[in-house]
Amino acid sequence: MIKMIKHDFSLKSLNTFGLDVKADRYFSFTNIDELKDFIQDPKIDLNEILILGGGSNILFSKNYSGLVLHPNIDFIKKIEENDIEIFIEVGSGVNWDTFVKYCVKNRYYGTENMSLIPGNVGATAVQNAGAYGTEAKDLIIYVKAFDLYENKEIILHNSDCKFEYRNSIFKTDSYKNRVLITSIVYKLSKISKYQAKINSYKGNGFKKQYFFWKEFIHHLSRSVNIKSVGKKSILDYRFLKNLLEDSGLLSLDLKRRIVIKTRTSKLPDIEKLGNVGSFFKNPIITIEKSEKLKRDYPNVILFPYVEGYMKVSAAWLIDQCGLSGERIGDAATLKHLPLTIVNYGKATSNDILNLADKVEKGVLSKFDIILEKEVVIV
Ligand SMILES: Cc1cc2nc3c(=O)[nH]c(=O)nc-3n(C[C@H](O)[C@H](O)[C@H](O)COP(=O)(O)OP(=O)(O)OC[C@H]3O[C@@H](n4cnc5c(N)ncnc54)[C@H](O)[C@@H]3O)c2cc1C
Repeated sequence: MIKMIKHDFSLKSLNTFGLDVKADRYFSFTNIDELKDFIQDPKIDLNEILILGGGSNILFSKNYSGLVLHPNIDFIKKIEENDIEIFIEVGSGVNWDTFVKYCVKNRYYGTENMSLIPGNVGATAVQNAGAYGTEAKDLIIYVKAFDLYENKEIILHNSDCKFEYRNSIFKTDSYKNRVLITSIVYKLSKISKYQAKINSYKGNGFKKQYFFWKEFIHHLSRSVNIKSVGKKSILDYRFLKNLLEDSGLLSLDLKRRIVIKTRTSKLPDIEKLGNVGSFFKNPIITIEKSEKLKRDYPNVILFPYVEGYMKVSAAWLIDQCGLSGERIGDAATLKHLPLTIVNYGKATSNDILNLADKVEKGVLSKFDIILEKEVVIV
């Protein structure tokens, strides 16, 4: 059956800001053959295509006057496995958290820290999505895609994807809206990091037992860090990080539940309050700049990045500028999490963009630091 293009199509349920925008034309497909057939049509202008996943990282500045392609490729397939690891191919239209749930249920380790990130599998590679110390790049083996311009299927291995913090080759001009991700192959572990460490220990019998208990006590002492349990998200994060990454003592299901509880206590529910999670990225600054910041503001929140660079908390910067809870129309930065901009109901894209502009200017003038948007503006 030939699928039809839809005209004047509402994207309200396909953007988590909940903006009432329309696409001039919209086409959704469930497999690569449908896409190939569709793209043969000589009337299609490839320059006006927008690829849309779950719309949880997109801000529509107005109605979209071109063609929206919405991959609805929905499958989860085991490719290969042994006692220790498994390779799974997942269609780009699968909801990301559905895949995490599948992994946790089957006791495949890797995705659990990224529980409840909204959106679909395809964009995890575009954004190099991540949470609580895990990023998509840590799990992706290769990405299958369709080059709309060359009209051919391609494969990009992990190193081809040029993953960085919330960035990848798919965001560059030569790939953006030209190369459509159709599926992703992830490698997951069938044993915990902790178990892998124990297994890798070469000793036998008593020595192995001794090693096991030494590791156990070490991780237990690091996990139970009462001082770190506080109301501030950064403290929750560190506590969670200890628990999730170091202890290895939690079941996968419990890890997922802790992540979900932490996230839902911080982030607004997209069903009730439109948002795209972090509107801004945490800026990357040089070590020298971070040291100066630390001298001037001893309470500055910094995260290690690559050698010579640190990330500074965008939320902290915005808060220091007195812009937490700032509101323009129905768009506002959250008081307790100011790098998230929410739609209190009737916000227009202009309200959101004007507010973002105000925040960016505030941070630039006080700290001489450029805030880069994490959200994709269309
Ligand atoms: C409440 C909330 C919490 C969030 N928390 C996090 C978090 O913890 N960590 C995090 O990293 N992100 C987070 N996000 C942001 C967002 O969920 C992720 O970036 C997610 O991966 C985006 O997926 P999506 O399918 O919605 O992408 P979309 O918003 O639809 O698209 C994002 C970009 O990817 C492109 N794209 C989408 N699908 C494809 C495809 N198949 N092929 C090629 N290009 C494609 C689009 O053109 C666009 O440029 C959060 C968002 C919300 C609303």
